[in-house]
Amino acid sequence: MSHGQRKPVPHGLSDLRAAGDVDTRPGAFDPSAGRGVPTWLAATLNYCSRCGTALRLGPLPAEDRDRLACAACGYIAYVNPRLVVTTLPVNEAGEVFLLRRGIEPGRGLWAQPGGFMEIDETVHEGAIRETLEETGLVVEPGEVVGLYTRPEAAIVVIAFVARIVGGAPVVTPEALEVRPFAPEAIPWPEIAFRTSEWALRDWVRRVRPDLASDDR
Ligand SMILES: [Zn+2]
Repeated sequence: MSHGQRKPVPHGLSDLRAAGDVDTRPGAFDPSAGRGVPTWLAATLNYCSRCGTALRLGPLPAEDRDRLACAACGYIAYVNPRLVVTTLPVNEAGEVFLLRRGIEPGRGLWAQPGGFMEIDETVHEGAIRETLEETGLVVEPGEVVGLYTRPEAAIVVIAFVARIVGGAPVVTPEALEVRPFAPEAIPWPEIAFRTSEWALRDWVRRVRPDLASDDR
């Protein structure tokens, strides 16, 4: 849980970040400094959602940082990360199911099932729902493998180890292939996201410490 924070943001294809994910313009969000609203997200926050007046960024009483606020009605547009709920579904052989992504970002590469938590569900419900939608597997989430912060994407990813209790792998437009991997057979160069790699490495460290490396 100590990693995934304040790491340098790599550039290039291996990073697989969609355009706009990291903004390098002067004044834009600086992940190494860990401050500010990502520019792509700020670009979606132009008007007060309560009254429609243009929002202004600036200091406010009792706030420790500049906020987007509406001068007309006083509404403050707080900007907070969203939670991505994911699972590492593990079968009785101790293999983890991954899916080959059918959509961007990371199309053609491997990731664990997951997605944005809905507003009216618990993290467990979200993890179960996303896993079923993306893989066809019915899981029972267990321990949390880790929580991973990606400030430049405004997300926090939670990864549960999950026991498979039903269902069967299905291929969908979102998942071109769904299959299990033994800890020693995880296709590291083809993992779609850094957060997936972090979660898988933390899981491998638990189940096969002899295979663990700090190569991340
Ligand atoms: Zn307003």
